[in-house]
Amino acid sequence: MAQKEKVRITCPRCGQPFSSDVVRVVEAGDDGLAIQLAVGTLNHSLCPNCGFEGLVSWPLLYHDRPRKVMLAAIPGLEGMNEEQVWAAVGAQLQWVVSGLPLAAQDDAYLYQPRTFPSLEILAMVVSGLRRDAELDTAIKAAYRSQLLQAILLTSGDLHQRRLLFAENSDLADEEMLGVLNTMIEDSLQNVSLASAARLTDIRDDLAQYIRSTTGLQRMREHVTHHRPDLDAEALK
Ligand SMILES: [Zn+2]
Repeated sequence: MAQKEKVRITCPRCGQPFSSDVVRVVEAGDDGLAIQLAVGTLNHSLCPNCGFEGLVSWPLLYHDRPRKVMLAAIPGLEGMNEEQVWAAVGAQLQWVVSGLPLAAQDDAYLYQPRTFPSLEILAMVVSGLRRDAELDTAIKAAYRSQLLQAILLTSGDLHQRRLLFAENSDLADEEMLGVLNTMIEDSLQNVSLASAARLTDIRDDLAQYIRSTTGLQRMREHVTHHRPDLDAEALK
């Protein structure tokens, strides 16, 4: 096991197999690799047959010793059991641990990596960490940004959009409204009126969704907590 590995991949465009170097472990202190990971250029490969360039989806570990953070991108993570997760990153994990001083090798965080289903999400998390965000904040921002991309892909299908809000209600919140507002301003200044209008449409729909769900939530709380008062009121 080393930090880099030669892997055999099949070009998604022309179908030719070829081998490519992939990085399997990134240490936070290694600025060169950590920046490549954060901006999404790490583990890109070029097909020697047709020139296609793309991301090699391969398990990757990210280790930040000072912050005691161990993260793992594991493509295909959904539906994997613990054994399969270990098979995907166990060798890398042992390699990282073996490079630490003996006294540090027992640290619990090393053996409980936070896992992500794609290199893209891990990249967004690392980008947040590099801007000094707390881990949980960076993770939430990464998933929120992924949700936004999915919503943008529904292009005006209101039903599908609502479904995405409901399935990700922990992310479809006021903070996401803020993110959308920034994107709208940016679009008005740098992109196009059409894209700003599309984003405004999504923002308004999200605002309405948040109002309706918090309204429902309040109504539920009111019924559970204030019912006795209401009854008492009614008796007067
Ligand atoms: Zn090719």
